[in-house]
Amino acid sequence: MAKEETMNTEVMTEETSLPQPRRSIAFIGSECYPFVKTGGLGDVMYALPKALAGLNCDVKVIIPRYHCIPWEYQEKMVYRGSFEMDLCADGKSYYVGIMEYVHDGVVYDFIDNDEFFTSGNPYLNLVDDIPKYCYFCKAALAALNYMDWIPDVIHCHDWQASLVPVMLRTQFAETAIRDAKTILTIHNLRFQGVYNISTIRYWTNLPDDVFNIDVFKTGYEDANMLKAGLAYADAITTVSETYAGEIQTPFYGDGLDAHIRHHSGKLRGIVNGIDVGQWDPKADTRLAAPYDITEVLEKKKQNKRALQEELGLEVDENKFVIGLISRLTNQKGLDLVNEILPGLIDGNTQVVVLGTGDAVYEASFRNFENWYKGSVCSCIMYDESRAHRIYAGSDALLVPSLFEPCGLTQLIAMRYGTVPIVRETGGLKDTVEPYNMFYQQGNGFTFDRYEAGLLYDAVNRAKTVYFTDRWHWDEMVQRNMAKDVSWEASAWKYRDLYLELRP
Ligand code: ADP
Repeated sequence: MAKEETMNTEVMTEETSLPQPRRSIAFIGSECYPFVKTGGLGDVMYALPKALAGLNCDVKVIIPRYHCIPWEYQEKMVYRGSFEMDLCADGKSYYVGIMEYVHDGVVYDFIDNDEFFTSGNPYLNLVDDIPKYCYFCKAALAALNYMDWIPDVIHCHDWQASLVPVMLRTQFAETAIRDAKTILTIHNLRFQGVYNISTIRYWTNLPDDVFNIDVFKTGYEDANMLKAGLAYADAITTVSETYAGEIQTPFYGDGLDAHIRHHSGKLRGIVNGIDVGQWDPKADTRLAAPYDITEVLEKKKQNKRALQEELGLEVDENKFVIGLISRLTNQKGLDLVNEILPGLIDGNTQVVVLGTGDAVYEASFRNFENWYKGSVCSCIMYDESRAHRIYAGSDALLVPSLFEPCGLTQLIAMRYGTVPIVRETGGLKDTVEPYNMFYQQGNGFTFDRYEAGLLYDAVNRAKTVYFTDRWHWDEMVQRNMAKDVSWEASAWKYRDLYLELRP
């Protein structure tokens, strides 16, 4: 339902002018900015609860208390309680501690257990991650009961939280929390939490009858945690409408397309936004020259020069700078980038890569930097501040993904007046309107089939407009900055869904 329609049907109270009725939502997921973030999920777990708090929702976010959470947050956490919880099939129980931190109207509860959450990185390997997230799902539900905070809706994110709907309807069916409704949001279908049945049965102690082909079972002896969550959730969402359609096909379905088609009646796509406070080029203290839409054309040149200096590139504001900020995995279309990159380096173009991931891509981008010193810079690292400066200092941002559930980098790019060059898949298709030179509309350059030649053509189309029609390029830069990429519209859609589940 569109926001305007919702506004009309909502009852607004005069004193608060907030939409009524109030709903309480527990967000359960494995990462959340600024505590711990490895990708877009971390951004969403931060920005959506904040946006919902502004729509009269009472929001609690539950994540693990990893050791890597910066001390500045750890020291502000307040001990909320602790208890022992039965977990395993042999009756082994574990400590659950709850640490709390409140910020911007959102309550963050961290599940504390040194045995599971000691590592620096939230994700290690499945051998460690499967027990960790079995524990986490059960501990999150038990913590809600312990705190006597019974939400209307429990909103779970990705496979790490996908046992919550299953446990709620089985192990917690007779407890205080039983009436809560569940939503499972798929941020990336590639990751499903698959391991052998006996291990997952041991770590969850779930009843035998859920290990059947309709819930957990996949292949001969494996259990798929995401599949089980999808079967038990009251509603399923994913992060764009196009991706909601794509995952019902074999190519994008990662083996779950038939299961998702079966449950498609409760599936919908709601596109992500970004937190426009977190990503605000005018208030961004990490930039050499912060800017708004009236200053972008001049200030972007300054940011570009500062970026070139920082990265050891030839300092020249007339170069066309292409940014790429990404996990380095084959999902992100890097095979296409590797194929075309030598062809892009023509003396007028520079490429800046920021990312970590598969060794093969890290090595290839390092090689490109060596071969094209001064024109290519590959920052093989995770660096939040540098990401901001690349968004601001680049002219274009490349997102040629093989598949992309939503993608946030193209949204951030537009907010920073940078032109996205994207493949028409998932959320990229839903958020980037192709440039139309006849009507002077659109936000970026797009291509459809996953082919290097088509990506090359899209980049060259962008370069042609940049070098030969700067007036219209600059208009697109400003159009992008004016585009609404905030959570506003989508937060309303989630709120509508909560009200549908709990009228
Ligand atoms: P995904 O969730 O698939 O990794 P998204 O486009 O949804 O991709 O989100 C990526 C988020 O992670 C963006 O906020 C982006 O700026 C950030 N990011 C990705 N790689 C890096 C990196 N190496 N350094 C800093 N930020 C990064």
